[in-house]
Amino acid sequence: MTKNPEALLEEEQQIAERYQAVLERIAQAAARAGRAKEDVRLIVVTKGQPLEKALAAVRAGARDLGENYPEEGVAKMRVLDQPDLRWHMIGHVQRRKAKLVIAHYDMLHALDSVALAQRLEHLAAEAKRVLPVLLEFNVGGEQSKFGWPAWDESQWDALIPDVEAVLACEHLLVQGVMTVPPPVDHPEAARPYFRRLRSLRDFLARRFPQASWDELSMGMSADFEVAVEEGATWVRVGTAILGPRPPKKPTA
Ligand SMILES: *Cc1c(COP(=O)(O)O)cnc(C)c1O
Repeated sequence: MTKNPEALLEEEQQIAERYQAVLERIAQAAARAGRAKEDVRLIVVTKGQPLEKALAAVRAGARDLGENYPEEGVAKMRVLDQPDLRWHMIGHVQRRKAKLVIAHYDMLHALDSVALAQRLEHLAAEAKRVLPVLLEFNVGGEQSKFGWPAWDESQWDALIPDVEAVLACEHLLVQGVMTVPPPVDHPEAARPYFRRLRSLRDFLARRFPQASWDELSMGMSADFEVAVEEGATWVRVGTAILGPRPPKKPTA
């Protein structure tokens, strides 16, 4: 299905407007919380979206793009290969995909196991690079979610050995934490999850003051303003800017 030029132009304009509107809403949420808007950065999540929408986001000014599946992002990078774009891997990385992350991505938001950390460490050392990473935590308790279990404070002490093991990886630069909370009917319902991630971050920062824990990656289309009020430094917004993701094609 190819779109006619008018439809493409209209889509591009809509994306530009929605991109600006999201930036404005971030600025307002930051102001409500007494924060500087510059302290919140927007990742446009292009996963599952056609290339022309990703291109429209870049034309609108987006420089940080987020992908969930390593190959899908790499395919877009081949076309959108501006040196000033930063590509964020925000989804779970399978062991056999770790190499793509090291070769192509600027930052990993979804480091969720010591095994993956050690695999990435090995590959990053080989490639002579350092990969900025965020540790993903499950603060909502859903079985289906990735991330270290952290929905109950009583679990936090048990995280210490794993965090120590990640911090021992010299080619991974830990910068903070990330979460994907359970879906909520109302943005306000996500607030307790964002607060929990922030207090977990504070807990880790007290235990490991030698590392940097500044970054809080939280908030998506449905709830990014609440996340900004609760301290998000990265928000990951897809559909609110690019529109609905087309249904997944069956993979060959
Ligand atoms: C898909 C996805 C997003 C963006 O979700 P939207 O609801 O489209 O804004 C953000 N973060 C992660 C980890 C995702 O998988």
